[in-house]
Amino acid sequence: MRNPSLCDGPGYRTVVFLQGCDLHCEGCHNKSTWPIDKGICIEVTELASILRKQSFNKKITISGGEPLLQKEAVLDLLKELSDFDICLYTGHEMEDIPEEMFKYLKYVKVGRFILSQRTSTTPFVGSTNQKFVRIYHEQTK
Ligand code: SF4
Repeated sequence: MRNPSLCDGPGYRTVVFLQGCDLHCEGCHNKSTWPIDKGICIEVTELASILRKQSFNKKITISGGEPLLQKEAVLDLLKELSDFDICLYTGHEMEDIPEEMFKYLKYVKVGRFILSQRTSTTPFVGSTNQKFVRIYHEQTK
């Protein structure tokens, strides 16, 4: 967990890094998150409780690793924190995000990291192929 971060979505955000990544991008700065069998196991309800205490402004980013390797747990976490401003960082594409997740999300970052397109100037992404998208809802949170 990183708290707070200014580079993982708009504003001060508490970032939770989920273990396991199946993409293995060249130049990944977070290789320790690759093995799915490392890290710590924690119940979704307990993680939600920790995030409620840690995040003073209810803004969090779910990152990794690759969060979509744990889709069910992520969806449960989104439901637990449905009053939060939540950003999801995935290396997969928009169509890989389960439809049900979108109603709980305010932002998503999609696309794998491509070393040859690395950027330090485009906000909230690591390479220019990636997209950072605001999700609009009929009634914004
Ligand atoms: S998706 Fe992210 S965590 Fe996974 S290998 Fe690529 S840069 Fe690393």
